[in-house]
Amino acid sequence: SNGVETREFQAEARQLLQLMVHSIYSNKDVFLRELVSNASDALDKLRLESMVDKELNVDTSDLHIAIEVDREKRTLTVRDNGIGMSRDDVVTLIGTIAKSGTAELLRKLRESKDTSASQDLIGQFGVGFYATFMVADRVELVTRRAGQAEGTRWESTGEGTYTIESVDDAPQGTSVTVHLKPEDSEDNLFDYTADWKIREIVKRYSDFIAWPIRMTVERTDAEGKTTTEVQTLNSMKALWARPRSEVDEAEYKEFYKHLSHDWVDPLETIHMRGEGTFEYEALLFLPSHAPFDLFAREGRRGVQLYVKRVFIMDDCEALMPDYLRFVKGVVDAHDLSLNISREILQQDRQIRVVRRRLVKKVLATVRTMMTEHPDRYRTFWAEFGRAVKEGLIDDTENRDTLLEITSLASTRDETELTTLAQYVERMKDGQSDIYYMTGESRSMIENSPHMEAFRARGYEVLILTDPVDEVWVERVGEFDGRPLRSIAKGQVDLDTEEEKKDAEPEREQQRKDFEALLTWMGEQLSEQVKEVRLSSRLTTSPACIVGDAHDMTPTLEKMYRAMGQ
Ligand code: ADP
Ligand code: MG
Repeated sequence: SNGVETREFQAEARQLLQLMVHSIYSNKDVFLRELVSNASDALDKLRLESMVDKELNVDTSDLHIAIEVDREKRTLTVRDNGIGMSRDDVVTLIGTIAKSGTAELLRKLRESKDTSASQDLIGQFGVGFYATFMVADRVELVTRRAGQAEGTRWESTGEGTYTIESVDDAPQGTSVTVHLKPEDSEDNLFDYTADWKIREIVKRYSDFIAWPIRMTVERTDAEGKTTTEVQTLNSMKALWARPRSEVDEAEYKEFYKHLSHDWVDPLETIHMRGEGTFEYEALLFLPSHAPFDLFAREGRRGVQLYVKRVFIMDDCEALMPDYLRFVKGVVDAHDLSLNISREILQQDRQIRVVRRRLVKKVLATVRTMMTEHPDRYRTFWAEFGRAVKEGLIDDTENRDTLLEITSLASTRDETELTTLAQYVERMKDGQSDIYYMTGESRSMIENSPHMEAFRARGYEVLILTDPVDEVWVERVGEFDGRPLRSIAKGQVDLDTEEEKKDAEPEREQQRKDFEALLTWMGEQLSEQVKEVRLSSRLTTSPACIVGDAHDMTPTLEKMYRAMGQ
């Protein structure tokens, strides 16, 4: 129907909007960055679609973004002639929040009384289009999908409902008009109708956008005559294509934020170039916090593929292994076809070479960070260590580096982690193995009877509580020629040869004394255990249950059981 329809925002979207309307984020300028970023994405999509789909009859000769201001009405409009949206797109993309982790974010925001913590949370999430409600009391969106005849008009005050109607005179693409809140007009700093303000925001946040961002500005000449002229506000240089020496830190950071929709600075920036038979440029970032969906099955990866400045795809899994899925960035490969599919990419030999180089570079960056910026490394490991450890399972090529950058909890210190190399350095004379125990929590492991003999002798034991730990320790098996040995499995021999010889007569006597008891216990418990034996492992507990060296650990058993096996 052509009538105006009023609809409700989905519950989570409504809650997030509430937060925006009441501006919990103080840096309101970013609303413009969000709109420009959406417009830029829409232009990328249209260019790609028009190259792939020859039937799509659209004019792509002047793709651009326009910013228009009406000082009387106090409105600001961001217009693009990109891909546009269908009516259904508008309902699903603007009326609901599909991002995973929204519920989690909202819960944390409600719990947090501290406003700067709330700002961090919002920053981690990125609110996109809804950021407009920080500065607007009403937002209008008019759009038409490329290739479709019918346009759509959407409007909302951000308070629970929006209206939607079909229109027939919408130009292809999207325009978003924000009706600025009256209170901001008094404050010159927030006057988003001022040319200088808009110019400043665009320069700061969106200079590298690959499409022209145009604005009509007024000029007064020497005779006092006022004329208008259209200016392009951004330099449009693809950052990754510029030499490193010509890009400053602030530009990298803004680019990262544009790319990742993150509002927090990255931990590390990696800018590299491959020359020779297969040319490419890569600009990668290690974020400073994990996304909410790092461990969600369909969580997204962050590397975009470009071919000679043309955006090809988001989330390019062929360029980054799963365990580095949190790395964000751009790879611009020069010799690929624009029509390349994900499947073909996976098979491409050159792409595999690029991927190997990227992985090595990322791991080397982390290794350097460990020595040069230990604080940053600690943040990195706390956020991404669990994912990186997945690499220990399959990435045999980089296993040594991965083991070098891995930090683990141990009995030596409550909070401070240790590397395997540091553990080995502290090993006692006569200790040949690296001891660890896996389990659900630190306290469970520390209170385990298995720990007693080790504690009594002052041996350090690694405390492994992540589910992935079970798998990689088994797979890796050793570090620096020393076996990784679970203290909960098989017979762990802590005595030196000397001590064993000295203790032998006493052990012999004990075996004789307890033989009858052990046989009886073995019979009584034959359903539950394989064997009952006398142990030297305990100092205070009377008995403990021990797995065979090749048995599954209790946590693994639980994992498999949960998986229905
Ligand atoms: P994000 O950009 O992170 O996906 P946003 O809230 O900024 O989140 O935008 C939500 C979605 O709305 C976008 O993913 C896009 O599909 C659609 N959208 C927003 N602005 C535009 C636009 N100018 N042209 C086409 N689609 C748009
Ligand atoms: Mg966006």
